[in-house]
Amino acid sequence: PFDILVVGGGPAGASAAIYAARKGIKTGLLANEFGGQVLETLSIENIIGTPKTQGTKFMAEVKQHVEEYDVDLISGEVATSIQKDDLVTVNLENGANIQSKAVILATGAHWKNLGIPGEDEFKNKGVAYCPHCDGPLFAGKDVAVIGGGNSGIEAAIDLAGICRHVYVLEFLPELKADKILQERLAGIENVTVILNAETTSITGTDRVESLTYRKRETGEKESISVAGTFILIGLQPNTKWLENTPIALNNRKEVITAADGATNVAGIFAAGDCTDSRYKQIIIAMGSGATAALGAFDYLIRQG
Ligand code: FAD
Repeated sequence: PFDILVVGGGPAGASAAIYAARKGIKTGLLANEFGGQVLETLSIENIIGTPKTQGTKFMAEVKQHVEEYDVDLISGEVATSIQKDDLVTVNLENGANIQSKAVILATGAHWKNLGIPGEDEFKNKGVAYCPHCDGPLFAGKDVAVIGGGNSGIEAAIDLAGICRHVYVLEFLPELKADKILQERLAGIENVTVILNAETTSITGTDRVESLTYRKRETGEKESISVAGTFILIGLQPNTKWLENTPIALNNRKEVITAADGATNVAGIFAAGDCTDSRYKQIIIAMGSGATAALGAFDYLIRQG
């Protein structure tokens, strides 16, 4: 068995594997695809100390860093379940099992898509999912935020300080965000809220130029000129495979973690976007990967 098996090959998993391997213990990293969400990112400007990079370039460097250590990289495999007896067993889709004394869950998350024309085509060309990441790219421009829940309204408030005008489109007849956020939004001049609006397409030539929505009350279609569309209809943690296991998830299906990355099951730790960490960012995922590896190491040295 491994001493520490990391499940997930994004920033959290890579960081956990490096921290584990640096302790000289038998470390494995299992991932469906090494790189994670960062592979979908064109330009990254908020990795402190690396002013500007691209997602694929950055994760290639991270992989190289992992490979400097004795980490058993198992990629192209999907974990489907996990059990804890004396050892932790991770079951794979291909029918095989991997055992480890401790496991770190780092399976990340994914943004829900609208599934409308233009969304895929203009990803990184005006279609964005993360205001902390991409907000400054739209400074002085008009943008739309799709989604009137907490993340959408937080994004609109944030973007209103950077962009010229922010349109918020909500499918339902009312915003779902907390009252305090709605009140704050109502006091901002360069924001227009459009309710009962079903976004139907995103259009442009090289980059996003406009967005079309259907007024659900009348069926009428309307277009607005925007340079960017932030889609904030929910971040889904990749934890479906943990739902029938004893690992505790919160109401958002995120793995509940303690300060050392421990889950409710002894020997199983978690890090990154699949957890209940408040913010989902590369450096935060990397930090929590390091925390979970150190937490798991502390656990192992107490097992005798
Ligand atoms: P992920 O990156 O999601 O990695 C999860 C890993 O787990 C992957 O290797 C995946 O293959 C694997 N996996 C999942 N399920 C299984 C399974 N069942 N079995 C085996 N393997 C599995 N953050 C920033 O800080 N700056 C940015 O500029 C930025 N831009 C972004 C742009 C986009 C378009 C997106 C989508 C995200 C962006 N983010 C950005 C957020 C950042 O990418 C995430 O916070 C970060 O990648 C989370 O890391 P993670 O390791 O927790 O998970």
